[in-house]
Amino acid sequence: MAASLKPGVVSGEDYKTLLKACKDGGYALPAVNVVSTNSINAVMEAAAKNKSDIIIQLSNGGAEFYAGKGCPDSFQAKVLGAVCAAQHVHLLSKQYGICVVLHTDHANKKLIPWIDALMDHNESYFAKHGYPLFSSHMLDLSEEDIDFNLSESARLLKRMSPLGMSIEIELGVTGGEEDGVGSDDNIGADNPLLYTQPEDCLKAYEILSPIGHFSLAASFGNVHGVYKPGNVNLRPEILKNSQELVQTTHNTGSNPLDLVFHGGSGSQKSKIEEALSYGVFKMNIDTDTQFAFAKEIGAYVNNNPKAFLYQIDPEDGTPYKKIYDPRKLLRKAEEGMVTRLSEACTDLNSVGKSLARPDATQKIA
Ligand SMILES: [Zn+2]
Repeated sequence: MAASLKPGVVSGEDYKTLLKACKDGGYALPAVNVVSTNSINAVMEAAAKNKSDIIIQLSNGGAEFYAGKGCPDSFQAKVLGAVCAAQHVHLLSKQYGICVVLHTDHANKKLIPWIDALMDHNESYFAKHGYPLFSSHMLDLSEEDIDFNLSESARLLKRMSPLGMSIEIELGVTGGEEDGVGSDDNIGADNPLLYTQPEDCLKAYEILSPIGHFSLAASFGNVHGVYKPGNVNLRPEILKNSQELVQTTHNTGSNPLDLVFHGGSGSQKSKIEEALSYGVFKMNIDTDTQFAFAKEIGAYVNNNPKAFLYQIDPEDGTPYKKIYDPRKLLRKAEEGMVTRLSEACTDLNSVGKSLARPDATQKIA
């Protein structure tokens, strides 16, 4: 019988159950970057509509935006915006009846204090509720040397593990730029930095798996953003080589690493399929949902140009209040995002696979 979980944010054993169901079932969850209540609600709506569990994530910039661009202390905005968004998801995800992994995206070296501040919040939330605010955080030190990357990841995982939290790390460099992290310079099919080395994956496994659960953003030519065909050369077999090295060295079952596919926007469906077969349980999507959100607003404004120039039509006196009501255009944006995410759920085979059952019991970390 398939495992079942209580709807809402998952952590600890429930998180591991969800990951195992993904890998055993040959599907992955869309991990969607959000910046506002509109994008969060659209993600939960899409998950409910597709009966798919889902990953909701905030970048540091997304968290700052959630707190409001006018919030005077930018660092506090990044911390408290993430905390507010997490509380929003905790309260509402149960209503949508799906399981949510709540995560933060790329944090490079200068954002380590952001993760430590979020850990303070996770710890105090855990003391009150018995489970953490976030399911996991990403620490992306792929631009640093691997020893620093792994020792710092180990330090944070030691804080996370007692709360039932997981860490996502990155080895090799995802090309492209996301929210100021990374650069467009390193895109190119022949750049060796774009391909994770299996030996590095093995090292990560040996250092981190004794401490707690980790997932790995491995680079196999994937890039953030969407580029002209020909500029991106995905080689999912890189993932297979890493899985096999860990498996043979440590005599584990197949696909021992829990892998994350960054830069999923604009990827060929066949490469997605192949990546899933090598143990990818999470595919990040941001650029395509940003465009889906924006495109519908653009179309709505173009279809109703006068309503965005005049409150009352200067020629025939028609009042436009019902058209420029922000709910109207924001709803269009949400619908655009839901449509694009339905496509993502289909691509990742997650449709109908939600483990959420209202009568399931919750296992706490
Ligand atoms: Zn990424």
